[in-house]
Amino acid sequence: MSQLEEMLAYNQQFVKNQSYRPFEAPSRPTKKMTIVSCMDCRLIELLPKALNVKNGDAIMLKSAGGMVESPYSNTMKSILVSLYELGSEAVYIIGHTDCGMHGLHAHKMIDDIKKRGVADQKFAEVLEQGVDLDQWLNGFQSVEDEVQKSVSIVKNHPLLPEGTPVIGLVIDPKTGEITPV
Ligand SMILES: [Zn+2]
Repeated sequence: MSQLEEMLAYNQQFVKNQSYRPFEAPSRPTKKMTIVSCMDCRLIELLPKALNVKNGDAIMLKSAGGMVESPYSNTMKSILVSLYELGSEAVYIIGHTDCGMHGLHAHKMIDDIKKRGVADQKFAEVLEQGVDLDQWLNGFQSVEDEVQKSVSIVKNHPLLPEGTPVIGLVIDPKTGEITPV
């Protein structure tokens, strides 16, 4: 059975057995909070459990490193949608130790892309779009600094509702311990 077939077979049983019952929730976050965190697979369950966040409690946004890269990135747009259209009232930016983006240099990723056989001509196409890969694919050197940077981008956004708390945290992906930045 392929992975997809396996998932679909499981899903049929999930629905049939009404296993969704414990997850029923309103579509607006009851704790009125938006969480931006890393896509790291160890955080799927650990992060919400460590914060006592359940289905329906919060808006969860994920990206590589949990970074808000620029004031007009997709993540920032999602934050604004959560605040204006979904009833959220606070933003938590949560980085984590041992992150894959920590120490990631664009040149390493460009090498890895080339090793997979992506031709130089494809890189030229990206360049033509005005994308600076060296900047776009770069990770960070300090998770605390990165969280601080994201917090400042959100805090200083001209469209942020006045008085919105924007809080930076770091989670340990092994123990779930949360430290304020
Ligand atoms: Zn990460």
